[in-house]
Amino acid sequence: MSVLIVGSTALDSIKTPKAENPRLLGGSASHAAVAASFFSPVKLIGVVGEDFPKNYVDLFRRHKIDLSGLQIQPGKTFHWSGEYEVNMNNRRTLLTELGVFENFTPHLPEAHKKSQFVLLANIAPALQHHVLDQMKKPKFVVADTMDLWLNIALADLVQLLKRIDGFVLNDSEAHQLTKEDNVFAALKKIHRMGPKYVIIKKGSHGSILSSPRGFFICPAYPLHNVCDPTGAGDSFVGGMMGYLAAAKGTVDANIRRAMIYGSVVASFCCEGFGLNSTTKARRADIEKRVKELEKLTKF
Ligand code: AMP
Repeated sequence: MSVLIVGSTALDSIKTPKAENPRLLGGSASHAAVAASFFSPVKLIGVVGEDFPKNYVDLFRRHKIDLSGLQIQPGKTFHWSGEYEVNMNNRRTLLTELGVFENFTPHLPEAHKKSQFVLLANIAPALQHHVLDQMKKPKFVVADTMDLWLNIALADLVQLLKRIDGFVLNDSEAHQLTKEDNVFAALKKIHRMGPKYVIIKKGSHGSILSSPRGFFICPAYPLHNVCDPTGAGDSFVGGMMGYLAAAKGTVDANIRRAMIYGSVVASFCCEGFGLNSTTKARRADIEKRVKELEKLTKF
């Protein structure tokens, strides 16, 4: 089965203590789509401007990503710029130029409306609602978010939580949403807001799932060198959704392993700027890291 992914398709200018790279292919949907494409066919919903480089379209095509829902509009592609501190965990946004993103309304081609697995990657909650409004009985819908929407679109986000199966957010966002310092208390509160599956990401410390089958602690793959963590969260959830769409059996039976695959794809993302390292990974490389994680967590 395929995964439908909506989110941002961006040009990212990224500064780390060691290097600076302008106008890389980025955006939540781009990272998630490439990650999911290792496991299942992907349909991308987004918008880019006329300045969007052809080689980035070619990259999506090499990953066999269906671009019939990608709008190309007059104007500039969404441009985001961020700078990392020496520890590579703290990041500040330097610039956000919305461009064609400002008036984006996601339109789903007829064939996309029956998609069973839907990932509402980081984008304004109103647009996430708009995609769901067009869907016909999806089987499993997961949403991601960011602190910006908790600050400026909380009411929309809270409404969205009632309509989705799974919600993925990082630990500081979980704290902001629930005012709970304890991650397990935060998970409980978020369940009460709607989603059956809640995943709190803790960066290089992995993630925690709370689900009808209980908790699962998912490790991050141990990396000695992080080049650029931009998009790691999107790669994690994209990889997880791609794996789930391809797997036989229930979501409950597969979600833990799906998280491990997501975690491994995220590790490749961190090893290069933008999507440079993710796109070089092969399925065999992913399987090797999954086996390593299995060994590391067995006792
Ligand atoms: P992450 O590192 O997982 O937080 O995701 C970073 C990605 O989010 C970058 O590729 C950005 O292009 C994208 N991004 C940054 N700001 C926004 C925003 N306001 N809406 C949607 N995507 C954004």
